[in-house]
Amino acid sequence: MKKNNKTTIKPNSSLNNKTGSWRTSRPEVDYNKCIGCSLCAKLCPEGCIAMIKTKQGLKPKFDYNYCKGCSLCANQCPVKAIIMKSEYNNNSHEKNKKTK
Ligand code: SF4
Ligand code: SF4
Repeated sequence: MKKNNKTTIKPNSSLNNKTGSWRTSRPEVDYNKCIGCSLCAKLCPEGCIAMIKTKQGLKPKFDYNYCKGCSLCANQCPVKAIIMKSEYNNNSHEKNKKTK
């Protein structure tokens, strides 16, 4: 009998699964507080933080297509440079288009 397991994800297909659509809050970084330690980029389970060169030194940049809003980066940042901001308006369940 042929199996029809639709929950199985094919190998090497993670880039097709944009986990950012799950997110209810997104991380935002204050470059003035960030010391460029790269810890957030190393810990992110989605691998969606890239360290980029800026005028202020090495700083994280988030790929919101894949960030699922787990808060790990914000919780582990040693200088609390990352805050989680809601994706929703205060009185609405509609996604906040300004932060998308
Ligand atoms: S963990 Fe915090 S201080 Fe380190 S690079 Fe990330 S945002 Fe900057
Ligand atoms: S919130 Fe989670 S998934 Fe998003 S960048 Fe931070 S650690 Fe990665």
